[in-house]
Amino acid sequence: MRRINSARFTVATRGTSREINRSILLNLVRARQPISRADLARAMGVRRGSITLIVNDLLREGLIVEGASGQAARGRKPTFLYIDSRRRAIAAVDIRPSQTFVMLTDKLGKPLTGVVGMPTERDPRKLARVVARRITALLAEHSEIEACDGIGVVVPGMVERSSMTVLHAPTLGWRNISLGAPIAAASGLPVVVESAGRACALAQAWAMRDDAAIASGDIVYVSVSDGVGVGVTVHGELLRGRHNIAGEFGHVPLSIDGPRCSCGANGCWEAYISNRATLARYFGQPMEALGPRRTDQREFTINDLLARARAGDQKAAAALQATARYLGLGLASVVNALDPVRVYIGGEITAAWDLIEPTVRAALAERALMPAVAETDIRPVPTSEYPRLQGAAALVAAPPFAAPVVA
Ligand SMILES: [Zn+2]
Repeated sequence: MRRINSARFTVATRGTSREINRSILLNLVRARQPISRADLARAMGVRRGSITLIVNDLLREGLIVEGASGQAARGRKPTFLYIDSRRRAIAAVDIRPSQTFVMLTDKLGKPLTGVVGMPTERDPRKLARVVARRITALLAEHSEIEACDGIGVVVPGMVERSSMTVLHAPTLGWRNISLGAPIAAASGLPVVVESAGRACALAQAWAMRDDAAIASGDIVYVSVSDGVGVGVTVHGELLRGRHNIAGEFGHVPLSIDGPRCSCGANGCWEAYISNRATLARYFGQPMEALGPRRTDQREFTINDLLARARAGDQKAAAALQATARYLGLGLASVVNALDPVRVYIGGEITAAWDLIEPTVRAALAERALMPAVAETDIRPVPTSEYPRLQGAAALVAAPPFAAPVVA
């Protein structure tokens, strides 16, 4: 028998709760679909009657559907079960300082629509209304989608979970902004808000659930954009800490008297490796000076800088390599602290990964506590995979699959 996530999803038997069996069953359907009730009972080692009870619940909640009857060697033909990924959608929202992006995905996070972009309204109530309208319009355009299960929203900042309040998003200039409630009110849908780095880590851990080595290990996601967001998963679960800020390595200092960071402190990792930091280095100016200045500078983006570096512009290449070195030095702190099985890097800078990887690796090796740690698997996640929107979708999609660890 094929083992599914054996390291994490220990098959539950007598004495384990129905809630755990339910998560195990959902993950089995996801990994092996289409699958019959009889095969589920065999795979889980529990009685058919127990399977029927759980399946009935999941059918009623719309998490799984019954499909075409299959072929059996003899006897009654089984009806196969699937994750309902066709008619039910999740709305994914990525709020960034300049633009906000919206996409509909299926229940497993696969895109159902293209990505719609719009300018980011700094007034959160206005932004909530615009986002809700856009989601409603997308759902209307796709009449094959019968229901939307919720809206996942990622923001470049820290979030208080119970109230879905953005505590601090420096690049947006937001402090203590209630965001979940106005979007829920405007859309009539449940809303989950989370920091981008944390949501991206969740999405990667969730996508790797069928890989036992990853699912049982810890992963780190470093999102490099206007700011720097970091998410950490431990045994496939997000590390949150008491106040949901655990793993904010973006604001761990590389140097106590370094450049001013968006959080107000000096020398944070973010102040060395964010896109704004790289651009500031290129222009030979402090980051604060990169506000609305000369038009040619304001419209010059990190993508332009990467293109120039690739084309042989020495100044652009030097700015980029400095970022690569600081990225590696900060990564050394991350791997020394957490010793993860894999580190994902997201953001525009991944388009230049071939140019920066040797520098990142060298800096990491310089500070890693042991050679094996310096060899930590580092994977760039291309922007074409929309990792932040995948992260937003995972906020809604992943929780039903999250089984508590069965000791
Ligand atoms: Zn900071």
